[in-house]
Amino acid sequence: MRYQPVIGLEIHCELLTDSKVFCTCQNEFGGSENTRVCPRCSGMPGTLPLLNQGAVKLAAKAGFATDCTVHNYSSFDRKNYFYPDLPKAYQITQFESPICTDGYITVCSGKKIRINRIHIEEDAGKLVHDDYEGISMADYNRCGVPLIEIVTEPDFRTVDEVQDFVEQIALRLKYADVCDARMEQGSLRVDVNISIMPEGSTEFGTRAEIKNLNSLKAIGRAIEYEIQRQSEILDNGGTVVQETRRFNDNHGDTKALRSKEEAHDYRYFPEPDIPPVQFTDEEMEEIKKSMPEMPQKRFARYTEEYGLPNDDAKLIISSRAFSDFYESAVKINPDYRQIANMMLGELNRNLNDTQSTIEDAKFSPAELAKVVKMSSDGVISKNAAKDILTIMFNNGGEPESIAKEHGFIMDNDASGLEEIVDKIISENADSVESYKSGNQKIFGFLMGQVIKAAGKGANPQLAKGLLINKLK
Ligand code: ADP
Ligand code: ZN
Ligand code: MG
Repeated sequence: MRYQPVIGLEIHCELLTDSKVFCTCQNEFGGSENTRVCPRCSGMPGTLPLLNQGAVKLAAKAGFATDCTVHNYSSFDRKNYFYPDLPKAYQITQFESPICTDGYITVCSGKKIRINRIHIEEDAGKLVHDDYEGISMADYNRCGVPLIEIVTEPDFRTVDEVQDFVEQIALRLKYADVCDARMEQGSLRVDVNISIMPEGSTEFGTRAEIKNLNSLKAIGRAIEYEIQRQSEILDNGGTVVQETRRFNDNHGDTKALRSKEEAHDYRYFPEPDIPPVQFTDEEMEEIKKSMPEMPQKRFARYTEEYGLPNDDAKLIISSRAFSDFYESAVKINPDYRQIANMMLGELNRNLNDTQSTIEDAKFSPAELAKVVKMSSDGVISKNAAKDILTIMFNNGGEPESIAKEHGFIMDNDASGLEEIVDKIISENADSVESYKSGNQKIFGFLMGQVIKAAGKGANPQLAKGLLINKLK
């Protein structure tokens, strides 16, 4: 039997606040165990939570980043369950009135994936299982770290759609400084809900939930495995049970953790110690105005207005700093294609070679714009432009003085060049003979000799024209 997978996501994202969500402990990754805890986040009875307003604003920004309705009013609830990494035995979250609802992201297939809600909640601690034989240790540093949970509708049908969505969410949250979205560090974690139904059916099957996937690759493998597992169950006349499962990266399989709880199991009730959030329209407008331009908008502008190929546009927007640099450069010199080529070619090569990022660049967008202008104006050759960029990258400096200092200014005087061409032709009689008898490849060699003799300031177009003429 052929089956149609149906997939929905729940994505947890740690917010980039300085302190935790209900206390003033530092919100930072790593560090020695239980060094960032206080009576509030370690669940001491009688302590009161104090809501971090910064976390609420970041959650609102996440909503604006994903075309949600961001609500002026939202409130908190208690979700009761016991687990050793949750010392209060309840988690403060938003159940009845989440801050954001009804957003969407358009994915690679062109489909709009609907976002049901985004709510604020606190993270739990971590259990460390491997230090002592048979003993688990609790680290509460992560308790009370502010999270948002993004819940989608079950709109995905393929791995590609899921991975594209996660990539886009991560990028948008990074642009908006909401979350650093480092999946490998767990600051963005994906739960995949997946069911299958016979192809052509419209009635969804029973789903399994795969918790805490920490890479795009793991997401893909977990989905493939689940499709296979559930298909085998149905093919053999069995039924899929609703449960939470864990993906094992080493084995590439999923194992049942626990049967799925229903909302009523958690005995949700309104959190009595936190007053509801109530933004005025002005405050909401203020947050909205603080949003930077989102990457998908830039992508559209680059491809539709600037004429960049999709792949180039995607590479440029993949880091906000890189894209900001591009934006500043094309504002000065709107040579969209050439500036993109320089950044994706020579600049990226230098960044890779030195394992650095654009923030470390020793030159400004204006200087990049200038180099490209000098090349398009015919002041320097294209190759010289690349060389100048590398010099600026390593040592800084102003493009025009570098060009002068290193003899890159193109000599557009044909007479000097003509002499050189004549000289090379007379010195390479064999090659010239060979070219004339049909060996086209040898032209490159002769060109190389001319450029070498003429120096860095040679105008390659001019040289080529002269050489072709003289060889006729
Ligand atoms: P619950 O309240 O039981 O957690 P939700 O309606 O909140 O259920 O859904 C949780 C997640 O499961 C959402 O991401 C949703 O898209 C997804 N989901 C719901 N039903 C299905 C299904 N039949 N197959 C796959 N995913 C599903
Ligand atoms: Zn604390
Ligand atoms: Mg749910």
